[in-house]
Amino acid sequence: MKNIILIAPPAAGKGTQSKLLSSKYNLAHISTGDLLRSASQKEDEMGNLIKHIMETGALVSDEIVLELLKDTLSDEKYKNGYILDGFPRTVNQAEKYISMLEELDIPLGDVIFLDIPKDVIKKRIVGRLVCPNCKTVYNDQIEENKPKLTGLCNDCSTHLIKREDDNEQTFNNRYDVYVKETYPLVDFFDKKGILSTIKGELSVDDTFKEIERIIND
Ligand code: AMP
Repeated sequence: MKNIILIAPPAAGKGTQSKLLSSKYNLAHISTGDLLRSASQKEDEMGNLIKHIMETGALVSDEIVLELLKDTLSDEKYKNGYILDGFPRTVNQAEKYISMLEELDIPLGDVIFLDIPKDVIKKRIVGRLVCPNCKTVYNDQIEENKPKLTGLCNDCSTHLIKREDDNEQTFNNRYDVYVKETYPLVDFFDKKGILSTIKGELSVDDTFKEIERIIND
């Protein structure tokens, strides 16, 4: 199976789609946000630095993220294909990542851009809930994404939590960072002829169908 990169504004549903793809196609799911969240829980200088940056909605430095990703990709389990969720976030990360893949002789795969308007995703973050155990994402404001039992994960019954960066102030910062740092990747990958775009406010199921159409093409 090919590797898949998902590019999207914050809270556009990358995590949800990655989880669906990972279970249907048996692909590993690498979320740099999750890698950083777990690094930020260490009570050392690096952990505190990462935690602080994430709380403001800014990007963690390319060096730290690339180092974490390189460590992760060295594991054999990623050889059968993986979904990258939240990486690359900058053109510099993309360039370094492409060089890293060339060294490791790994193909880049498909790059999919979820093009969703700002007002739609802003509404979504208000209700977003995440399972800290299996990382399933829910939304208690959107009927189709509500957990079956209030506050509990459908898959593993763990108590759902709200991410610390899911508030309006942090969202606005994250969106500005996205426009400035991440959106230029659309043009970067488009020029390489490997970008597919899914546009508009589609349901989770319809977005997934579109992604499947692209990766099975
Ligand atoms: P996410 O879970 O992908 O929404 O990411 C949450 C936060 O983690 C972001 O707002 C950034 O502070 C940080 N982050 C995640 N991925 C990256 C990345 N590739 N580069 C830099 N910072 C990142």
